[in-house]
Amino acid sequence: MNKKNLYFLSLLILLAQAPLLAQSVPNLGQTDRWMKGALAAMERNDFETANSIFRNLIDSGLPLPEEMPYYFAETLFELKQFDNSQNFLNKYLEINGFRGENYEGAQALKKKLEKPLREINQCQLCNAQGYRLQTCETCNGAQQIEQSCSYCKGIGIVGCSRCAASGMITKRNIFNIVEFYECDRCNGKGRLTCPTCQGSKLEKSDCRVCGGAGKTVTESVCNHQELEHDHQ
Ligand SMILES: [Zn+2]
Ligand SMILES: [Zn+2]
Ligand SMILES: [Zn+2]
Ligand SMILES: [Zn+2]
Repeated sequence: MNKKNLYFLSLLILLAQAPLLAQSVPNLGQTDRWMKGALAAMERNDFETANSIFRNLIDSGLPLPEEMPYYFAETLFELKQFDNSQNFLNKYLEINGFRGENYEGAQALKKKLEKPLREINQCQLCNAQGYRLQTCETCNGAQQIEQSCSYCKGIGIVGCSRCAASGMITKRNIFNIVEFYECDRCNGKGRLTCPTCQGSKLEKSDCRVCGGAGKTVTESVCNHQELEHDHQ
């Protein structure tokens, strides 16, 4: 038996086992349909549609076709999601190396990404993903603000931990009899003035809305140009 026949034989064996694979067959069909739809959308420069089809494919949890990360990276580039584009491009090159069908396209995309990624990197007005930042509306950029104390939840008092807020502690004496004492930490009140805010119910801490950055991310892609009203 020559090599070719051997190949056909193993193919036949594979086909004989096909019922085992039956469940995944309709899914592969679905993946195919999505890929075709996405590529057709890219063809007519409808990158929004291509993007949502690729996302469906990712969300479906089905195995991704080998060339998919490349096409998705191209789509993300067109949508100016440069950082994300780079992630999928790197994934593509990592999986396929120079054997990928789109190896050359991938190299070209890598070159194309250099400039916008450098611009994002150098721009103070956007985050690492290239989205415009705005001054946090909660702290007005101050980063730290006086807000309701997180330790006592703005109540100003906390339960005493030594006596479990009961005001009493128990001890066994030498005759093994339980004796009750007034808790000396809270003087029997069971409560303490909040150690974080000293009872003021407020604390100065990192703004919870912006995490202390003073800025929040918007949904608009940054053009790396200062606007009039951005000046402080
Ligand atoms: Zn106590
Ligand atoms: Zn407090
Ligand atoms: Zn803030
Ligand atoms: Zn920018």
